[in-house]
Amino acid sequence: MIDLRSDTVTRPTHAMRAVMAAAEVGDDVFGGDPSVNRLQEMLAEMTGQEAGLFFPSGTQSNLAALMAHCGRGEEFIIGSLGHSYKYEAGGAAVLGSLWPCPIGYEVDGTLDLNKIAAAIKPDDAHFPHTRLLVLENTQNGRVLPLAYLKEAADFVRHHGLNIHLDGARVFNAAVKLGVPVREITQNFDSVSICLSKGLGCPVGTVLVGKRELIAGAHRARKILGGGMRQAGILAAAGIYALEHHVQRLAQDHANAKALAEGLAGIKQIKIDPAAVQTNMVFASILPEQVAGLAAHLKQIGILILPGANLRLVTHLDVSAADVGRVITAFHGYYSDNH
Ligand SMILES: *Cc1c(COP(=O)(O)O)cnc(C)c1O
Repeated sequence: MIDLRSDTVTRPTHAMRAVMAAAEVGDDVFGGDPSVNRLQEMLAEMTGQEAGLFFPSGTQSNLAALMAHCGRGEEFIIGSLGHSYKYEAGGAAVLGSLWPCPIGYEVDGTLDLNKIAAAIKPDDAHFPHTRLLVLENTQNGRVLPLAYLKEAADFVRHHGLNIHLDGARVFNAAVKLGVPVREITQNFDSVSICLSKGLGCPVGTVLVGKRELIAGAHRARKILGGGMRQAGILAAAGIYALEHHVQRLAQDHANAKALAEGLAGIKQIKIDPAAVQTNMVFASILPEQVAGLAAHLKQIGILILPGANLRLVTHLDVSAADVGRVITAFHGYYSDNH
């Protein structure tokens, strides 16, 4: 199967499984798992942050960060499609008693600082206290410009807010820009980084940030049931991925670009290959052809998430040759009188 539904579908490689099997472990709730500690230190160092904390998922890492930054009834400002706003089942409200303030994105995936300034609440008993700005990088595959991150960091300092990055795919952004990841992450008070997406691990996210913030997130993680025991088995996969799977993200980006260029040759598909920056391709097809196309592709071993607005994601388990097969399969469907 060629699975383009997400970069979460990657399976651990043989080499990754071997290091997992051999991992040194201990009880991480007692802080005694050497592999977890090493992973946390490694990512803190790479990101220019003071400390790291291993989580079972990005959803939990983001939520623990929000809970560490904001107290009950306080507000965070976030993009209207931000993962912690739209795709985490409202956890910030349900479990954190936090109030989100969503703002629409600009075309480049940034949030307009003037719109954010207008959304910050004055000190008035009618309003929640605004505490935090949350950005996402990459945002739907888009890389936020470094100059913007610097401006956003200055902006929050000026307004007395903290700033969190949902950096589920921040390594894709760093590789695309050709900079060490710390050039991006040093602008934030905390950053959540998924190991289970393009980096190819089966499980895991690391939150990095200031020591005090991470201490708060550690408490929140306990509340959320995220304390794990011999988690070094999973952390070992993360260490392996940081050593072997970062630079290769460039291949996923090249594959996504090639896929977009191949699909652009089909007149029934609306697509802009120039808009592809990292490992995601967005394409619009006719709603009445969604089911037929998905079925056609599935029958030749290609999985997509069906929809009139397709998101096709490249990753470790999709080769350049696979991309060729996908393009041929799309052409096959549309040349069959659709
Ligand atoms: C995947 C993802 C997360 C976390 O998802 P989990 O499935 O909980 O690990 C957070 N933010 C973004 C932008 C993501 O893509």
